[in-house]
Amino acid sequence: MSNYKPLPVSFVRGEGPWLWDQQQQCYLDALGGIAVCALGHAHPAVTAALRDQAGKLLHTSNLYNIELQQTLADKLSDISGLERAFFCNSGAEANEAAIKIARRYAHQQGISEPKIIVMEGAFHGRTLATLTATANPKAKEGFAPLVAGFLRAPFNNVEAIETLAKQHDGICAILVEPIQGEGGVHVPDPGYLKQLRSLCDQAGWLLMLDEVQTGTGRTGRWFAYQHEAILPDVLTIAKALGNGVPIGACLARGEAATVLQPGSHGTTFGGNPLAMRAALAVLDTIEKESLLERCAALGERFLEGLQRSLGDVAGVTQIRGRGLMIGIELDRPCADIVAKAANARLLISVTGGNVIRLLPPYIIDSDQATAIIEGVSELVISFLEETTD
Ligand code: PLP
Repeated sequence: MSNYKPLPVSFVRGEGPWLWDQQQQCYLDALGGIAVCALGHAHPAVTAALRDQAGKLLHTSNLYNIELQQTLADKLSDISGLERAFFCNSGAEANEAAIKIARRYAHQQGISEPKIIVMEGAFHGRTLATLTATANPKAKEGFAPLVAGFLRAPFNNVEAIETLAKQHDGICAILVEPIQGEGGVHVPDPGYLKQLRSLCDQAGWLLMLDEVQTGTGRTGRWFAYQHEAILPDVLTIAKALGNGVPIGACLARGEAATVLQPGSHGTTFGGNPLAMRAALAVLDTIEKESLLERCAALGERFLEGLQRSLGDVAGVTQIRGRGLMIGIELDRPCADIVAKAANARLLISVTGGNVIRLLPPYIIDSDQATAIIEGVSELVISFLEETTD
């Protein structure tokens, strides 16, 4: 179907942050499959785990106990502080599980028409419920009727949520990205998550964090909420967790961790042994190679380097981000820069229409970081020159 508009390039091989196309031309990947390939391409630890598991057992279904699910759930529980996990195959599915948990939690309290607060600029996926939770009106065009039960507030604005709370009955949860990714790499003010946490505590709502993009180390901590020392009630992750093997997870604690009971939710493929092994190898490698520290340090370096080369350039409105999630906002639409970058053998993306987004693998070295900073800076400067009258 024609729902994608890919660039005219096909990659046949990858290693670390490098990709090779059919003509054996080499590209530096500063996008990592949209925040997925955190360990780069063909990481030996992931490859070995997959080879080993593929030779033993791929799938049995959730009709039987899958021990590797318990192993991964324990590991995720250790690093997140949450208690239980439901495994699925994508970010949207993880968010669907979160939305279902919130609704069931509300029904258990006698709320018959539960409402979840979501944010302007949010992206939560493309299934009907997650599309409804997503803000972008273009993504919703032609898909009405959407799903009932969502209220929208501006991002990074706690007062607006307090106002919603006064206007509506039946609110049961907030679903929010700690840093908005698809919306344009928006980093909220320090303290935002803490304020949301106390609002949820006071009102008896679930705080549900969508860390599909920010999670699994991207911001320099395992999860972005750990920068603010809070705990969500529900956490969704996917993307980097499998380094390219499809996997999602919805973690929960407290009451939220117990609302799903046999028969209330499920999936055929979710939690299969192959995906579990991939995720275990990813988490293990992030620890063994001290990649959280590396993400944090590289993130500083990116922000400083980009600020130095682009901070004073007319047309660059802001450079922002955390860890290896970086946005360069221009004063004009810049989607065309993606193809220009690919021609220069550098892979980047543009999100929110005018924000160049970098999501490089955590394993890049300092020369590769410098090459990305310099390459992107040159592209931005020449793009701005070309598009200024
Ligand atoms: N949530 C966030 C924050 C995302 O960035 C994305 C994807 O970009 C999703 C959910 C949806 O994930 P998936 O495409 O795996 O369904």
